[in-house]
Amino acid sequence: MRKFKVTLLIAIACLLITPLAVHAAKINFPDIMGYKTLKCDFHMHTVFSDGQVWPTTRVTEAVRQGLDAIAITDHIEYQPHKDDIPTNHGRPNEIARGAAQKSKLLFPLGAEITRSTPPGHFNAIFLRDARYLDTKEFLDAMKAANDQDAFVFWNHPDWKPEHKGWFDVHDTIYENGWIQGIEVANGGGYHLNGHKWGLEKNLTMLGNSDIHAPSLIVETTPENHRTITLVFVKDRTPEALKEALFKGRTAVWFKNQLIAREDYLRAMFVASVKVIDVYERGERKVFLEIANKCDLNIELKRTGMVGPEEVILPAMGTATIKLRVQKDVKDLELAYVAENMLVAPAKGLAVKLTASIE
Ligand SMILES: [Zn+2]
Ligand SMILES: [Zn+2]
Repeated sequence: MRKFKVTLLIAIACLLITPLAVHAAKINFPDIMGYKTLKCDFHMHTVFSDGQVWPTTRVTEAVRQGLDAIAITDHIEYQPHKDDIPTNHGRPNEIARGAAQKSKLLFPLGAEITRSTPPGHFNAIFLRDARYLDTKEFLDAMKAANDQDAFVFWNHPDWKPEHKGWFDVHDTIYENGWIQGIEVANGGGYHLNGHKWGLEKNLTMLGNSDIHAPSLIVETTPENHRTITLVFVKDRTPEALKEALFKGRTAVWFKNQLIAREDYLRAMFVASVKVIDVYERGERKVFLEIANKCDLNIELKRTGMVGPEEVILPAMGTATIKLRVQKDVKDLELAYVAENMLVAPAKGLAVKLTASIE
């Protein structure tokens, strides 16, 4: 009886001290190379441009979906609701800043420079004052963002099929050092040129939601989730986030794919995938149990001689594969390509699984 009472008291105490927080989902991608992996979305809209939600809603959604950092990037040049909500650049960030702080969400000030193609649309984040981006000339807006030491990236570069390409104006901003990143994916769209130019021109690769409507994702799964950027940071601070973006330490989680430079993908594979058990059943029949500690269903295709032709390592789960091995073989090495960990357009990451038979 006494024990019951104590338990009940503890339960009530827990209820009292638990704040009424939104239930946060967890997105699973391990830390790599001594960096912390932050889940980020740097492109979204509110009623202050052509979005459909109030700024604080963006914070609530991000916290519910387990994000670490977001930027609201309302259009500077396009405000279809301005009869109801007056033009006020930077105001969405001001409105939602308190809520972001309370939730420990990193929340740099952002805006979208919105010009017809070419040049197209560019996001600037880590701004000090968004009003200076409201210029007549495109190049003046790009310069103004860079004068504030903002991080500037090209949004959805393949958006307009009739104007898909790298034009003179892009040379100008690139040669001036006014563009540091490029979107490889926004929402449900993959941008082949973003991927190519990101690698070729050493631009930071990003994946963002570019949401305008409310985000209705209740449960994040490998197949149904917000398009986000993983950023590999030294600390969970605005300064460290900015440093990592300028250095290009990112990966893009788009549909059931991870897109990044090879070093980061390799580190992510090594940190996520482990052979956790090896056992023999009968002569020359060996079983490997492999765990995957990230939210990607990793799709492996064999490139070597040993192992099944195709293996799926389920997100946050395990897979068991059966091998027939030669007598007296002690060390196993299985060569595969992780087809949905893209080191370049349509090119998966080459990986090896190794294990020893006791
Ligand atoms: Zn828009
Ligand atoms: Zn845009």
